[in-house]
Amino acid sequence: MRKPIIAANWKMNLTSSETESYLKTFLLEIGDEIDTEIVIIPPFTALFKASEHLSASASTKLGAQNMSQHRSGAFTGEISAAMLRELFVRYVVLGHSERRQLFGETDEIINQKLHAAHDATLKPIFCVGETLAERDAGQVEAVLSRQLHAGLAGMGEKEIHEIVVAYEPVWAIGTGRNATPAQAQEAHAFIRKQLAEIAGQNVADRVRIQYGGSVKTSNAAELLAQPDIDGALVGGASLDPRDFAEIVKSARAAKAG
Ligand code: PEP
Repeated sequence: MRKPIIAANWKMNLTSSETESYLKTFLLEIGDEIDTEIVIIPPFTALFKASEHLSASASTKLGAQNMSQHRSGAFTGEISAAMLRELFVRYVVLGHSERRQLFGETDEIINQKLHAAHDATLKPIFCVGETLAERDAGQVEAVLSRQLHAGLAGMGEKEIHEIVVAYEPVWAIGTGRNATPAQAQEAHAFIRKQLAEIAGQNVADRVRIQYGGSVKTSNAAELLAQPDIDGALVGGASLDPRDFAEIVKSARAAKAG
């Protein structure tokens, strides 16, 4: 019912020319994949080159790592939703923990960005997740609930239906330590319950929830076999095109049963 979605968040890695050789290899490896939606999320400077290579691909779409909540104006160094749309960007990552922690993005700013993305017909990959201290203090559900309610404030069923939620426990990002499939499933089921409270069961049943945090070729299949895990947001392991293609293939196998 929910098409799996596997995304590659390259973070601040790969230049425009490196993007070209990555995509040539990746698209060959992946072949005619149609059961899984794939999103490549390079740095802004590689979006144009990536869009040239992905324009003919049915399965692989383009995403951006961030965008401004503002439409235009005196915001030096920022990139607007409209600028992304013109480069055929379809998805945008919002609320990534690195943006929250290193760049001071609050729930309120993320909510503004979610609205701005929707207005520009960009689909958000909306990241939520607790820190290790919050998990140890038994606050996982409280944190997820706060991030979801604040982030989605003022959004209707139609807008929320378009969103992909990424559950990314902060302690699992870039650490090599992934959540166990049971821990991830528990958090995903809770997120879906919250979405039902916010936007109704029908929408909650349709929203795709990705897991992110040290996903790699060796653990992707068991994570994706969980019923409420509809995809993965992959950082470090997505930098090798062959590894990322293998993760996509294992997602397909896990979801096919
Ligand atoms: C991420 O940056 O979204 C991420 C999940 O990173 P990693 O896979 O490297 O943990």
